[in-house]
Amino acid sequence: MPELPEVEVVRRGLERWVRGRTVADVAVLHPRAIRRHLAGPEDFAAQLRGRRLGAARRRGKYLWLPLEAETPAETPAGTPLGTAPDRAVLAHLGMSGQLLVQPHDALDEKHLRIRVRFADATGTELRFVDQRTFGGLSLHDTVPGDPDGLPDVIAHIARDPLDPAFDEDAFHAALRRRRTTVKRALLDQSLISGVGNIYADEALWRARLHYDRPTATLTRPRSAELLTHIRDVMHAALAVGGTSFDSLYVNVNGESGYFDRSLDAYGREDEPCRRCGTAMRRRPWMNRSSYFCPRCQRPPRVS
Ligand SMILES: [Zn+2]
Repeated sequence: MPELPEVEVVRRGLERWVRGRTVADVAVLHPRAIRRHLAGPEDFAAQLRGRRLGAARRRGKYLWLPLEAETPAETPAGTPLGTAPDRAVLAHLGMSGQLLVQPHDALDEKHLRIRVRFADATGTELRFVDQRTFGGLSLHDTVPGDPDGLPDVIAHIARDPLDPAFDEDAFHAALRRRRTTVKRALLDQSLISGVGNIYADEALWRARLHYDRPTATLTRPRSAELLTHIRDVMHAALAVGGTSFDSLYVNVNGESGYFDRSLDAYGREDEPCRRCGTAMRRRPWMNRSSYFCPRCQRPPRVS
């Protein structure tokens, strides 16, 4: 499953290679890849034809392409130019989804699901390839007036910590108010988006916080420190995963750099803590695992 840095790498690739291009035609080669677009593949293709793709956007792990009107003549009468996008294509990468920009004459990938051709002479097309078909594309209305063309179906997703508009005060206040534990809060997409199990464990290790620490006990400086560690971990991952997007192949579902990235906590059971040498532990946690150092990250006292 790609996490925020992997999805950001895809977003940058899309911004570079498909921004501003007008869709000529769409071929849906597997209906499952379009199942979230309830009106069906023909409707999906018909609505995209002639529309220009705006700059790719991301919130947490969600990625979308806002649709711009191709020419001013296509904007409804009375609508000022430069108006917010009214529709957007949401990409679900699922477990194995990839978005590739390929030359027209490149052989079809074995698991090619959707092909988008453009009305320009660039000679490349956008392909959605997905071996396991958990992912797909769908078209949605946007939140009215949202300049980024946020699809309405993800309007409840909180901003992520790399978003300049992330509201730190609201985040700290919510942590203090909620009766929850810190790792649960980090994975709550309505509070902060884009932090998955791996980055949560990494940031908590850096912050020397146990995953079961009640959020109400976190002081403002402590939660600010945690936020800094989350951003550092993500930037470090981006620096590694972001190295392969500078090519025609839009790197996408993030396996590059993902597993060879050096992790300090996740997956390091019984290995020495890189700070104090104590053996790292793994505990089952909400159908997943939490990795931590029992010395650096002391469990909260039971009252
Ligand atoms: Zn330690």
